Amino acid sequence: MNRTVNASTGEPVAPGGCIGILGGGQLGRMLATAATELGLTVHVYCPDENSPAFDVAAEKTVAAYDDAEALARFADNVDVVTYEFENVPAETVRILTEHAPVRPGALALATAQDRLAEKTFIAEQGIRTAPFRAVDDAAGLAQAIADLGTPSILKTRRFGYDGKGQTRIEAGPAPQAALDEIGNAPAILEGFVPFEREISVIVARGQDGAIAAYDPVENIHKNHILDRSFAPATLTPGIAAEAIEIASTLVRELDYVGVMGVELFLLPPDGKGDKDRLLVNEIAPRVHNSGHWTMDACLVGQFEQHVRAICGWPLGSAARHSDAVMTNLIGEDAADWTALAADPGYAIHLYGKAEIRAGRKMGHVTRLFPIGERPAVTPN
Ligand code: AMP
Repeated sequence: MNRTVNASTGEPVAPGGCIGILGGGQLGRMLATAATELGLTVHVYCPDENSPAFDVAAEKTVAAYDDAEALARFADNVDVVTYEFENVPAETVRILTEHAPVRPGALALATAQDRLAEKTFIAEQGIRTAPFRAVDDAAGLAQAIADLGTPSILKTRRFGYDGKGQTRIEAGPAPQAALDEIGNAPAILEGFVPFEREISVIVARGQDGAIAAYDPVENIHKNHILDRSFAPATLTPGIAAEAIEIASTLVRELDYVGVMGVELFLLPPDGKGDKDRLLVNEIAPRVHNSGHWTMDACLVGQFEQHVRAICGWPLGSAARHSDAVMTNLIGEDAADWTALAADPGYAIHLYGKAEIRAGRKMGHVTRLFPIGERPAVTPN
């Protein structure tokens, strides 16, 4: 069945249409559920036969991301393609684009996949980041350390997530040892940011250029993995507005369509007011774990918002009707599901993963509070 590709006409994908999702993890699963709620059908493409998103999709393709024939067949049978992870190979996107619109587009993916391209792009918008240098070899690393000082953080340019592919450099160690630690991959060195808190903004941009941002949240990590998000972050109105302005500038300048996660560092106050306290750490060209609270605390959550955007629908309201604390269920946390389900204050979301593994995101719970009554952030 060949569906009508409507990118050229600008017509929205109407109920009854089909969205294709690359990637079958929990983000794909929650996107598929949201799309179904809007009367759309979903086709999930993932190489892993046991993907949680398959449980909630009308159609599935189990094939590799470099299987040109399978990709073409998949894209011919959907109205629009999106993805739940940022490491989609450029060649995969090129093939898909010949058969269906891919949203968000290739520019956003290429920018977010490579920390050097990402930081360069962000800095070009006049937005602050950690100071950074490209590092290709030991001599380059020695020069970068000379420029930025220590402590600093060496990160692979590509394929890093949840603290993987990075190592902290203190004064002293031989540069080669640090490069060995990250597999001698092309890298960047970042100056260490002495941040006070980590916040994020989930922002959406529609095909018509409209932008809707959720309130910034404060994120607490455990073992490099997001543990809890507190919504909203406690910020001065000026800093909250600046965080949203930064996220809005990034989606506008990338001509972005869909939901994007923007992770920021907030520097401690320096006596000069709100100015210059926000730096962008990274962007995720997709729905984001720190936006899961929006499913329960906003009229239109991030998953529905992403589907609306990629389908050319008007964006929904990102307004928060409640404050919220979202807690990830990592590994064994999910084994406690009877206790979690027995707590009447929790909205519980389980991802249908058969096997509990240490560090694996198994689900999340969200507790709502009246506006202004969220409990204080507690560090780990
Ligand atoms: P990333 O993989 O870039 O998201 O980094 C993972 C975590 O490492 C962040 O959430 C921060 O807690 C920390 N981190 C990353 N980059 C820096 C930096 N330049 N300065 C200080 N901490 C950092």
